[in-house]
Amino acid sequence: MDFDLSEPEKRFRDEVRAWLKSNSPAKDGEDGVDQKSFIDRRRAWQKKLYEAGYVGITWPKEFGGRGLSFMEQLIFNDEMILAQAPEPINVIGLGMGGPVVVAHGTEEQKKRYLPPLLAAEEIWCQGFSEPNAGSDLSGLQTRAEDRGDHYVVNGQKVWTTLAHVAKWCMLLTRERKEANPRDGLTYLLVDMESPGIEVRPLVQITGDAEFNEIFFHDVKVPKSQVLGEPGQGWAVAMTTLLHERGTLGMALATRAQITAAELAEHARKLGRGGDPLVRQKIAQHTIEARALQLNGYRAVTAVRRNGIPGPEGSILKLMWSELNQRMTETALDVSGPAGQVGDGAGWKYQFLRSRANTIEAGSSEVLRNILAERVLGLPRSR
Ligand SMILES: Cc1cc2nc3c(=O)[nH]c(=O)nc-3n(C[C@H](O)[C@H](O)[C@H](O)COP(=O)(O)OP(=O)(O)OC[C@H]3O[C@@H](n4cnc5c(N)ncnc54)[C@H](O)[C@@H]3O)c2cc1C
Repeated sequence: MDFDLSEPEKRFRDEVRAWLKSNSPAKDGEDGVDQKSFIDRRRAWQKKLYEAGYVGITWPKEFGGRGLSFMEQLIFNDEMILAQAPEPINVIGLGMGGPVVVAHGTEEQKKRYLPPLLAAEEIWCQGFSEPNAGSDLSGLQTRAEDRGDHYVVNGQKVWTTLAHVAKWCMLLTRERKEANPRDGLTYLLVDMESPGIEVRPLVQITGDAEFNEIFFHDVKVPKSQVLGEPGQGWAVAMTTLLHERGTLGMALATRAQITAAELAEHARKLGRGGDPLVRQKIAQHTIEARALQLNGYRAVTAVRRNGIPGPEGSILKLMWSELNQRMTETALDVSGPAGQVGDGAGWKYQFLRSRANTIEAGSSEVLRNILAERVLGLPRSR
């Protein structure tokens, strides 16, 4: 793979860098703001990015995207992280919702869902996990009953990020029980304002409530909101997860390098940079972060070839989540006992938030199974 950017790519990078320099709001201004203002600010930020042409960079032009390649998307992600710019609000919609509608949606669905998703007018969430179906997603029990021109949905989802502000939910439901639990699933796009939906926030170890439980009581969903074929929802769900790990993985590769650099700075500031054990740990983290970046380039090459992210996304997600946990642990060690009390540099928050990294978007154990079976061709675990 060629690591140098072409001339047009360099021009794109310079254009993005200059735009972010004069337009990006500071992330630190967000400390202590309530959830509503946080969401409002992130929504306004996405709108601004959208108007400048930086949202949906790889999406088709006719639906509000820019029709560019994954390379431009990657350049943009790197510049966002380097500029320490905040993320747009619609992370789930942009990373998964849009790409899955592009892949499986009808023309009407693309026209209906993509433009407001890009402009942050409608936020998306992902309703896959249930109390008894997480890693074993095909064990899900939320029912969609066929009533002619619509479905009636009953059941419960859990850990649904952004459900409290979302307009649309990518909802994986069971339409029929079949011998293979992956058969008979139907993928619905559910309007979160429909009668019969109840959202209850769940508070995390950080004190934030990013995710929720959702209860569905006789919720009517028109058939025009089925994505893909009824009963074939598993294939649509797999496209969603490939995008989740792929897009996430690529962004994380750069983020790891920034965290490693911030960690070195943190040790220096506290006068711990000369401690041989601290130095060795930080050097090791930096090496791993760089290796992650190189794997990120490999993932981009796969996307360029096939148009969809491959299992490389699972390598990135697995490596990043474990590395991020080690880096935040080192940061707290370097801070000493004070690091557990105050949160001057934000490391305590990052340490607590990083606990979820090895669970969300596929746990480390499950990702290792995927890599063993699908990449290395080892026998199936079950
Ligand atoms: C911050 C956060 C945000 C999330 N956001 C969303 C969201 O927006 N939408 C959504 O649908 N879900 C979301 N999730 C849920 C997430 O996808 C699940 O938590 C995850 O898939 C694990 O499922 P589980 O919690 O049911 O654990 P389980 O599947 O019950 O796993 C429990 C333990 O068993 C291990 N295990 C399970 N199966 C195997 C196996 N076959 N081999 C080896 N070990 C195994 C797991 O690794 C884990 O350690 C979120 C989770 C977090 C933490």
